Amino acid sequence: MILESRVALVTGASRGIGRAVGVELARMGATVACLATSEKNAQATVDVISQTVPTAISKAWGCDVSDPESVDSVVKSIEAELGTIGILVNNAGVTRDTLLVRMSDEDWSTVIDTNLKGVFNCCRAVIRGMMKARWGRIINITSIVGLHGAAGQVNYAASKAGIVGLTMSIAKETGSRGITCNSIAPGFIETDMTADLPEDMREHVCKTAPVARLGTPEDIAKAVVFLAGEGSSYITGQTLTVDGGLSL
Ligand code: NAP
Repeated sequence: MILESRVALVTGASRGIGRAVGVELARMGATVACLATSEKNAQATVDVISQTVPTAISKAWGCDVSDPESVDSVVKSIEAELGTIGILVNNAGVTRDTLLVRMSDEDWSTVIDTNLKGVFNCCRAVIRGMMKARWGRIINITSIVGLHGAAGQVNYAASKAGIVGLTMSIAKETGSRGITCNSIAPGFIETDMTADLPEDMREHVCKTAPVARLGTPEDIAKAVVFLAGEGSSYITGQTLTVDGGLSL
């Protein structure tokens, strides 16, 4: 129960990586606010948390992370009900994949607004509370695509690379106040986002990655728990790649 007495906000918590992160943080004793595009979607994970960790406190919230006013109001509501947010996991993300020549303004804006502006909105909304408490852990989910690029993902790669720069800058701004800010760069993880991955691509990942398998949401959740705990207090501004060695 290394995270007992901590309040965590997990965005994109309705399924996939966000759900596993919510469950794992609850297992470690944290009170977990689950956020998705709707409260109903997030409630599905709250139900899983209460089945898996019956003693855990968790609650669902819904909003679009790209909308600053909604984020501010959700954070106020979470802090009024559960207490100051000490752990923020920025995990909400979308893809709109297509080649640059075919990419619409909307494909670009939706991905940048959700994946990058959403992280900015959430960090800004929680940072005052963390500064006052002189303790905080911000963990941003980027991607190996943000570090290495990918054809057909100009928008997604730019949003995820932006998270890396934002992470280093927040680390520099807040380190002296007991706050760390790090990113995790997953490789291919089995979730809805990769459900349509062609079979030959799956085989390629399994052949190329030294650990010879796709990742699970739990692989990422374990890394989040490490970065959320006391054991990582001297690590900040870093991007931890969790990809089974795929990008080596
Ligand atoms: P997923 O299964 O598609 O889930 C995406 C989550 O984000 C859902 O909870 C969704 O909520 C939420 N979301 C989307 N747009 C939102 C918005 N505007 N406001 C609030 N919530 C929003 O994705 P995943 O595979 O678990 O990925 C989670 C994160 O890891 C993403 O940032 C992704 O880019 C990153 N990542 C994934 C992989 C991978 O292989 N899966 C690899 C590298 C990085 P609703 O259910 O309400 O729509």
